[in-house]
Amino acid sequence: MAMLLEALQRPERAAAVAEEVFALMRELFPLVRSITGDGVRRTLDGVEAWIPLQRHEVPSGTPVFDWEVPQEWNVREAHITEVATGRRLVDLRDHSLHLVSYSTPLRARLSRAELEPHLHSLPEQPDAIPYRTSYYRETWGFCLSQRQRDALAACGEGPFDVVIDSTLSPGHLTYAECRVPGETEDEAVIYTHVCHPGLANDNLTGIAAAAALAREMRTGPKPRLSWRFVFAPGTIGALTWLARHESELPRIRAGLVIGLLGDGGALTYKRSRRGNALPDRAAELIVPTAGGRLIDFEPYGYDERQFCSPGFDLPFGRLTRSPNAAYPEYHSSADNLDFVRPDALAGSLQCLAALVGAIDANQRWRNLSPKGEPRLGKRGLYGLTGGAGPGQFEHALLWLLNQSDGRHDLIDIAGRSRLPLPLLARAAEALVQAGLQAPAASSSSSSPPLLQEGTSP
Ligand code: ZN
Repeated sequence: MAMLLEALQRPERAAAVAEEVFALMRELFPLVRSITGDGVRRTLDGVEAWIPLQRHEVPSGTPVFDWEVPQEWNVREAHITEVATGRRLVDLRDHSLHLVSYSTPLRARLSRAELEPHLHSLPEQPDAIPYRTSYYRETWGFCLSQRQRDALAACGEGPFDVVIDSTLSPGHLTYAECRVPGETEDEAVIYTHVCHPGLANDNLTGIAAAAALAREMRTGPKPRLSWRFVFAPGTIGALTWLARHESELPRIRAGLVIGLLGDGGALTYKRSRRGNALPDRAAELIVPTAGGRLIDFEPYGYDERQFCSPGFDLPFGRLTRSPNAAYPEYHSSADNLDFVRPDALAGSLQCLAALVGAIDANQRWRNLSPKGEPRLGKRGLYGLTGGAGPGQFEHALLWLLNQSDGRHDLIDIAGRSRLPLPLLARAAEALVQAGLQAPAASSSSSSPPLLQEGTSP
């Protein structure tokens, strides 16, 4: 039996899928996304062209732990015009980052002195437009490059006509899930944030990669775990999802927050709060061989903050390339489609596929013939010609039989044997077929019970 997403673990398939991922990103790039509103809905429309989604609309004002679902924000147009010349100096039509997200509606003629406190630019990066939001404080603002700001200053005191045709009113927070049912009730989650406007690495790479993983998974062999892919706005979306699915959380064996998958930095896996949860152990095995590194949990970053808060303490890690705020283009218009490298995206897909495959395949077995080595040859499992040493597959069989005492799982065995996980997974399947080993009880539990032979049912 092939491992889950085994094809996508190969470079050729990953490169082909990365090209499609890029096309989806290009399509979604211009949408004005925020934590609520039609930008999120249209983004999900784009994802839904790839995979079926269950959508959820949660009303504004719904309490969510210490928070509540905010008012819904939408915008039709926003611009600044020099009155004297009729020249548009800043226009949301040119870039979705030009307006501070959640800006309140405004139609006013203002002097430059009145306008200045509402402008945001990056003097150190004069061509880049910064990304700014004001979700929980009602205000308005424009983001522009330092060059645009200098051009505006050259207009003297103005005046300027400022238009923000936005609505901030009771509505809904939108999120969506794609579920891929598995053989067991145990679950795993891939989570990605969908709230950022015109930024490519953060986080169209995460959105499109999650869509790709879900699509590949739906067309491959049935997973062992039941997988869900969650597309939700950052922070409030993660909190809302947690609040609405709290009773299902005990079934979660592993979760990955994904994003920032296309920059030139090395892969970075951030451990869960627990530090040794299933995805952490899978990453320990896989990420370094993909040229990446692991970092410890810290309570700053993306939505792992919510999943790994002490009241949940879920087994969630995070995979990015460069972490948040760790590259100069971060949260600015320099994080555009040119910044994302197709080869980096392909490498990230490969690594994600390997992580997902390892998480899904990880279980413990019990050797049903543990006294001495069982005779593999008579079961057609071992090279029948004496003398020639065992091949990799035979090695995998021997390692599995030796370690299948109900305590060591596939990731342990892969770490100890240094054999590839897909090979071990295939060998384990062969041993189960031959009646030589059987899954041990609660095989995917993150805190393994020490099974005692003879006392367990
Ligand atoms: Zn971000």
